[in-house]
Amino acid sequence: MNRTGILFVISGPSGVGKGTVKDAVLKRLTDIKVSVSATTRPPRVGETDGQDYYFIDTEKFQAMLEQGEFLEWAQVYNNMYGTPQSFVSNKLADGSDVLLEIDIQGAMQVKEKMPQGVFIFIEPPSIEELAQRICKRGTDSEESIKRRMAACREEMEHSRYYDYLVTNDDLQEAVVKVYSIIVAERCRIRKNNEGVIGS
Ligand code: ADP
Ligand code: 5GP
Repeated sequence: MNRTGILFVISGPSGVGKGTVKDAVLKRLTDIKVSVSATTRPPRVGETDGQDYYFIDTEKFQAMLEQGEFLEWAQVYNNMYGTPQSFVSNKLADGSDVLLEIDIQGAMQVKEKMPQGVFIFIEPPSIEELAQRICKRGTDSEESIKRRMAACREEMEHSRYYDYLVTNDDLQEAVVKVYSIIVAERCRIRKNNEGVIGS
């Protein structure tokens, strides 16, 4: 049967574990297309261009922005990030499900454009635990950790616009929850009026 793909958006504060949860979910699910974002941030050790991100300079990012090539974009802690529109539209039209892992500003833009998507908010067990995780990750200065904690308090307010809230306390539990959401959403009967008895 022909189907349009489902767009899944995983989002939440920086350092909450979105990337970790996403990678673990992808080990269980192979039939989902992951969008690769463009960013002006330099690659970290071990990251590959075209796989982790498309690493581009600010000029190229601006040009893509002006050409309307992004479904959404945001400035996250001094770097620009954007989701290429064409990949998402083409895969969904082909019937493939698509997964985005993006920040909250970006998720809100996608929600406006594609409200039929499935929006999953990952929250930390506490702000203190979030700070510890960012600290352990070892990629942020003390100043940056403080900024991220302050932003987290504000960002938590946006969870009400999402369809699902998953606390990333025990990693395996969070992974099972996100996996289960995807499986359940794939089984959902997506109703227009034909689902209403008598219509
Ligand atoms: P994000 O993608 O949201 O910025 P990451 O996936 O990079 O976050 O995770 C931030 C840090 O927290 C990483 O060092 C990761 O190993 C760690 N982490 C992720 N989930 C958990 C968890 N459930 N318990 C403890 N540490 C975690
Ligand atoms: P990092 O630099 O640690 O890979 O990512 C920083 C933040 O940017 C994370 O919260 C990540 O989810 C977010 N991010 C990655 N790609 C995109 C994107 O295409 N759009 C938006 N809005 N955020 C993104």
